Amino acid sequence: MCIFCKIIAGEIPAHKVYEDDKVLAFLDIKPVHPGHILVLPKKHAANIEEVEEVELSAIILAVKKMGALLKDRLGYEAYNIYQNNGPVAGQTVMHLHFHIIPRVANDNLNHWPVRDYTPGEAEEVLKKLTA
Ligand code: 5GP
Ligand code: ZN
Repeated sequence: MCIFCKIIAGEIPAHKVYEDDKVLAFLDIKPVHPGHILVLPKKHAANIEEVEEVELSAIILAVKKMGALLKDRLGYEAYNIYQNNGPVAGQTVMHLHFHIIPRVANDNLNHWPVRDYTPGEAEEVLKKLTA
């Protein structure tokens, strides 16, 4: 059983923020800021490709609720919704989860580096994506 399934089963404690029949939300044990929340399906799915649509719909609605809670109850102005999909993308727990990360000004949680497309590159990529 994965670590998040153990939390769902009550075998490992967690600070639960929200629960319904399909979804659990609890505080990340190592927050960026206090109130950093993880939202996940109760039914194990490793990633966003595996999860069933009905579970995913419930998750995203819970994500929306958690974001509102961070603003209304904890007074944060903004938050990021983050989902690491696959180890190369930084996923360390292989049970799908969305991070709701509260933000404060100048907290140094920087966005990803960017580049420009080379001439014709975007068109090539689009051809593959839409073929
Ligand atoms: P990932 O890198 O897979 O997107 O994020 C996994 C997150 O789960 C990390 O932010 C980590 O702090 C959190 N985490 C790992 N183990 C536990 C745990 O046992 N309890 C809680 N509450 N969070 C955990
Ligand atoms: Zn699991």
